[in-house]
Amino acid sequence: MEFKSLVDLITAIENHGFGIVLSAGLLSFLFYFGWRVLDVQVKKLEAKKLPAYNVRSHHIFVDLQRDLDYEVPRLALGTEGRTLLFKDMMDIKFRTFLDMIGPFIDQHKCEECKPECFYDKNLKFVTELVNAYEKKWRDIGIFEEAVNKFDEWHQPRVDMVVEGIRTIANNQIYQTREQKYVAILDLYYYAMRWALFDAELSLKALNGEITGKVYKGKAC
Ligand SMILES: [Zn+2]
Repeated sequence: MEFKSLVDLITAIENHGFGIVLSAGLLSFLFYFGWRVLDVQVKKLEAKKLPAYNVRSHHIFVDLQRDLDYEVPRLALGTEGRTLLFKDMMDIKFRTFLDMIGPFIDQHKCEECKPECFYDKNLKFVTELVNAYEKKWRDIGIFEEAVNKFDEWHQPRVDMVVEGIRTIANNQIYQTREQKYVAILDLYYYAMRWALFDAELSLKALNGEITGKVYKGKAC
């Protein structure tokens, strides 16, 4: 039922009765209104999609914060001294990573990021990150033996990230800077999760090397 003018409307009421015409009109209005609402909602969702594909919405930020808050404090390693040492090392490593990675990605804004630029910037970041947490470890008195042993066990994970950065920088599958960072953050996530095992393994492997030493007043 379509009404092009008031005459049509009156004719329709005469032919079909007021109730039916009113119902049809109401239905048309509801249909139109419903479609409008739906259209607006779809447009809103589409508008949201773009910022949602933001590197900062990667799961790593939430998951590593959860590990820092719940996994790291629960770690235990033999003596009280070793456990404290182990927790401090991981707490610092996780915090340093979370503090540095976001600002680093935000600051890397190239008009057109070439593979060399992407690789160089990320490789530099890995070096800065490792230097930053190791400096903090030494500053609070983590034993040199523990730093070196951890480095030894953790090196394969660092190599994996560096190799991954090289591949991702040059791979045509990842077209935008954001896509590349999403892939790299996946790698960092595994490397960080592995760090917990690496720390445990390295401190266990230290055996006699730190036995008898005192960390924060507790025997190792
Ligand atoms: Zn770049």
